[in-house]
Amino acid sequence: MANEDTLYAQIKPRLIDFLKVAGLPFWEPALGTCPHCNEQCAVYDDHWSCPSCKAHGDIVDYVMELEHFVNRAAAIKRICRALQIKITTLDVISGDELLDTQFEPTQMVIDGFLGQGTYILAGAPKIGKSWLVLWLGHQVSCGANVWEFPSRKCGVLYISLEDTRQRIQNRLAKVSGGETGNIWFATEAELLGKGLEEQISGFLTENPTVQLVIVDTLQKVRLPGSNQYSYAGDYEVITRLKALADRFGITMLLVHHTRKEGADDPFSMISGTTGLSGGVDGSMVLIKDDRDDNRAELFVTGRDIRDMHMRLIFDEYTHAWHFLGYVGNERIERRDKLLNEINDFLSEVGVFHGTASDLMTKLSARTDNLEIKSANALTRLLNPQKNYLQHEFGIQYSYQRSGKERTLNLTKASDDSDGNDDT
Ligand SMILES: [Zn+2]
Repeated sequence: MANEDTLYAQIKPRLIDFLKVAGLPFWEPALGTCPHCNEQCAVYDDHWSCPSCKAHGDIVDYVMELEHFVNRAAAIKRICRALQIKITTLDVISGDELLDTQFEPTQMVIDGFLGQGTYILAGAPKIGKSWLVLWLGHQVSCGANVWEFPSRKCGVLYISLEDTRQRIQNRLAKVSGGETGNIWFATEAELLGKGLEEQISGFLTENPTVQLVIVDTLQKVRLPGSNQYSYAGDYEVITRLKALADRFGITMLLVHHTRKEGADDPFSMISGTTGLSGGVDGSMVLIKDDRDDNRAELFVTGRDIRDMHMRLIFDEYTHAWHFLGYVGNERIERRDKLLNEINDFLSEVGVFHGTASDLMTKLSARTDNLEIKSANALTRLLNPQKNYLQHEFGIQYSYQRSGKERTLNLTKASDDSDGNDDT
């Protein structure tokens, strides 16, 4: 915090400097563009104000509005970098403070399947990846389920660089049955580092409902050259896309290919170095055993989701991939005994409101080998799982501290609320 204040003191009087170095519209001596309504506004060294929409603020507000930062600290860092102000102190947090922090759960575009951040979908050529992502984008644009996973209705941008508009029209008609939601298509785009980021961020700024951007294929937006076969090159590509996704709080789904030779671990079949597969928030690999067969297997792994191994079948009429089941009839269980136990308990009681020690007593009565050190430790084990509890089990979790005790609130949503149409 102290660090943020020091940096803020340095950037606060430098709004005009910032507009100049960032190449943003500025007319001497004191005119800029209102980040809120895009009309001309007055800018001073330490504030701006807009006669058209009456918005006003300081340099941080300006950048947050203009570049859609949700986080003030991130906007300050961005300004510091532009103004070449060195961040000389290390931003630290104590272990105790960190364990007690409750972060807001991130919103998922497809609950339990696709979260915020950067994801790769890889598969062999002509296996049906583009059909899959088009259908997926269409479902999200309508707020319809993706198999058993509910999606959050939002705008979708599909950058489809291996197709013509005519071909996409044909595909979209099949996948959507003639009606679709807010989904946009681009069949041409600049390369990464050569204008693509600006194109995407410009589009996202004008279309704030868009939460899912599909890039088909990743290869098509990369600069050709030897760099693309190196760890550093792969890592840089992902870092650029990830920065964009995080800045807007959106999901980017990158279509990519697999290597020809098989491997025991499907994720190691993703083409490229670990700079690519290790840098993303999640990966999916679509594999067919037999090229002529309509069936395939989809392997999924990611930060806020369970590992899954699904069987799919391609429907020749609707051109959608349908869900057949999980391999072994079950999702791969995470080995988290505590969370499973809490889910079982909440499934019975629905709501728990009480102290951490109450919860510990209740859980210990159900099973004898939960190894929780203390009531305090229990809340600290649950804090980082807020996302997972919500997305995987539909459990809302929060706690308050009053004096020495912590009061936990756990609520499990009942299962009768799936009003989504999953056709
Ligand atoms: Zn304005």
